[in-house]
Amino acid sequence: MKIPLAKPYLDKEEAQYAYDTILSAWVTQGPKVQEFEEKFADYVGSKYAVAVSNCTTALHLSMIVAGVTVDDEVICPSMSYVATANSIRYVGAKVVFAEVNPVTYNINIEDVRKKITSKTRAILIVHQMGMPADIDAFKELCAEKNLVLIEDAACAVGSSYKGKKIGSHSDLVCFSFHPRKVITTGDGGMIATNNETYRDRLKLLRQHGMSVNDRVRHESNKVIFEDHIEVGYNYRMTDIQAAVGIKQLEKLDFIVEERRKIAFQYHEAFKDIDTIRLPLEQENYFSNYQSYSIYLKPECKISRNDLMQTLLDKGISTRRGISTAHRETAYKTYQENYSLPVSEDASDRSIVIPLYYPMLQEEIDYVIEQFRVAII
Ligand SMILES: *Cc1c(COP(=O)(O)O)cnc(C)c1O
Repeated sequence: MKIPLAKPYLDKEEAQYAYDTILSAWVTQGPKVQEFEEKFADYVGSKYAVAVSNCTTALHLSMIVAGVTVDDEVICPSMSYVATANSIRYVGAKVVFAEVNPVTYNINIEDVRKKITSKTRAILIVHQMGMPADIDAFKELCAEKNLVLIEDAACAVGSSYKGKKIGSHSDLVCFSFHPRKVITTGDGGMIATNNETYRDRLKLLRQHGMSVNDRVRHESNKVIFEDHIEVGYNYRMTDIQAAVGIKQLEKLDFIVEERRKIAFQYHEAFKDIDTIRLPLEQENYFSNYQSYSIYLKPECKISRNDLMQTLLDKGISTRRGISTAHRETAYKTYQENYSLPVSEDASDRSIVIPLYYPMLQEEIDYVIEQFRVAII
């Protein structure tokens, strides 16, 4: 058997809608993008949603509208995909890394509190592998210290916190539609917000700072000239991507339910193994299980890397746990003396195993069997 780590769930519906869009001749930031934004906002329960080219550009624009500039500091976890920290560097601000909780891998609020200085402008939290962080605690902290909260929800589309979808809780929530996430548009991103001022500036910045968008100009029966109000970017999403996204969104709840069923099978199958720790979903937290990560305790008889090789020899793809940005080459000379032992340990001792829809029952059973054989 050959089992990949992940696979997007796309079929003829996405292909047909993309096909129709291509033939419509409106292929970028037109009606399909608008439709996707409206449906996405509706789905997550935010007032607005702004589509962009990917989550990294969503984070970059969020930094700008949050007013983060050089001389500011932004606190984020080191244990995340490196794009999280990079988005802070794009605006010239200083990245301040905080520790994570060793069980949920989500950012540790006590450590964040210690790292707030007079220069701190924003806190960038990450919903790790789809497991929500404690958003309310961070909202409170931000209110108390007059900071902006930004959510890196790249992996968390379809997840919920306290009964409400991720995207509805704060004003800069950034999503990814990369194929490694739960739904995909090839590449793509979205910012959910309830703040009209943010929405307008995000829309301006994603399209070169242009005062009139193409759709408005196209629909106008008066001649309109555009102005470029500030230095913007080309972070547009295409209508072809948006068409795919609209169809993916219709399937999202179903995909999440199916992913959760597989995750629960893993929970059941591995819960008796006391040398490992499984993902923990606390009350009020609802994960889409974008990834299923298992922590190998020090007493585990096989090392993480050997386990990965053993499983690969059996045809099962795995990945290391989430990496730490502060140990990447791009950050090594950037700041020194980072002590983040919990993040390093969590990253070095965890393994991500296959989880996707549709994963056949025999594939699930095979992963369970091979994992148990290798680890016990
Ligand atoms: C994937 C990911 C990103 C980057 O998303 P792109 O859409 O590929 O730019 C950012 N942050 C986290 C936590 C991610 O997992």
